Amino acid sequence: MSTEQLAAELDTLRLVDHHVHGALASTVDRAAFEELITESDRPIPPFMTQLDSQVGFAIRRHCAPLLGLPAFAAPAGYFARRAELGETEVNRILLGASGVGAYLLDTGYRGDAILDVPGMAAASGSSTHEIVRLESVLEAVAARRPGAGELVAAFRDELATATANAVGTKSIIAYRHGFAFDPERPGPAEVTKAAETWLAQIDRGGPVRVSSPVLLRFLLWEGVDRGLPLQLHVGYGDPDVDLDRCDPLLLTRWLKLVESSGTPIMLLHCYPFHRNAGYLAQVFPHVYFDVGLGINYTGARSDAVIAESLELAPFAKTLFSSDAWGPAELHLLGARLWRRGMAKVLGAWVDEGEWSSADAIRVATMIGRENAIRVYGLTS
Ligand SMILES: [Zn+2]
Repeated sequence: MSTEQLAAELDTLRLVDHHVHGALASTVDRAAFEELITESDRPIPPFMTQLDSQVGFAIRRHCAPLLGLPAFAAPAGYFARRAELGETEVNRILLGASGVGAYLLDTGYRGDAILDVPGMAAASGSSTHEIVRLESVLEAVAARRPGAGELVAAFRDELATATANAVGTKSIIAYRHGFAFDPERPGPAEVTKAAETWLAQIDRGGPVRVSSPVLLRFLLWEGVDRGLPLQLHVGYGDPDVDLDRCDPLLLTRWLKLVESSGTPIMLLHCYPFHRNAGYLAQVFPHVYFDVGLGINYTGARSDAVIAESLELAPFAKTLFSSDAWGPAELHLLGARLWRRGMAKVLGAWVDEGEWSSADAIRVATMIGRENAIRVYGLTS
């Protein structure tokens, strides 16, 4: 089988995007769009455009032709065409062209600006499942101002309801505290004391935002108890994260403590610590990882990131994700750059005689969809 045939096989693979957010619910102008194609939350400096980046070039290369423009169309023409089509049509075209058969949607961040689970299913025609953020569930409960002694029971009720139809849970302890935490399960008295402090702060007008390491650890352990695959944000993200505290190796002791639970732990993104994540996925049977987000933002270099993700981890432990949020360009690129990178990397190994082409296709199918179907128990 030639490299072209391998690429053609990869192009028709119906992917499962196991960590993704909704596409934009309404059209945005160029300035707002540029702020959505970077993990920076700062204003774009006036001396530059965010389109002059790997992801910006990839958008003009791969998305412009799908919108009826030449590849590398100039930004002004691209945004004029986008506005002319409208977001509903842009979503239909780009989500449709991504070849993603199922989305596992994290609905916990700025849900008002993006499509929800039914909206994403309607826009894409693909099956769409929900991942529930543990912190959001606790914050929803805290906003109802229960007593500190009632918070745990109320949280468990709310989590049971919120996850009744969900396929996984998610923790953003990386954002709120980092991974240098006491790995032990916090005791009931410790949790009640932390709840008292937090609820009192809310009563005094403080934000309903859980950042106590005790409560964040409580949530992690509750997520493990729930038994659904538990996703953790790892590594690369916006500046709300302190990246030096997000190396997944810092989770090692906690991973050992939760191993016997049988709950799969899904390390998301992981860049630039994806090699460390690959190590954890090799040594711990319950640990999985992906390199989503890093693929989009490395653009033409994403094949190198993909190659590095195929080092230590057994191929049954790696998953595909885009981590797209907002512009459907990011949903499209997550899938397209992954297919491109896998074809380049696996094709080279086949050409060198190191891999058989049958194994290359089998491994791409595992990472692109089958591993997610197995771990999350998907039936559609
Ligand atoms: Zn995400």
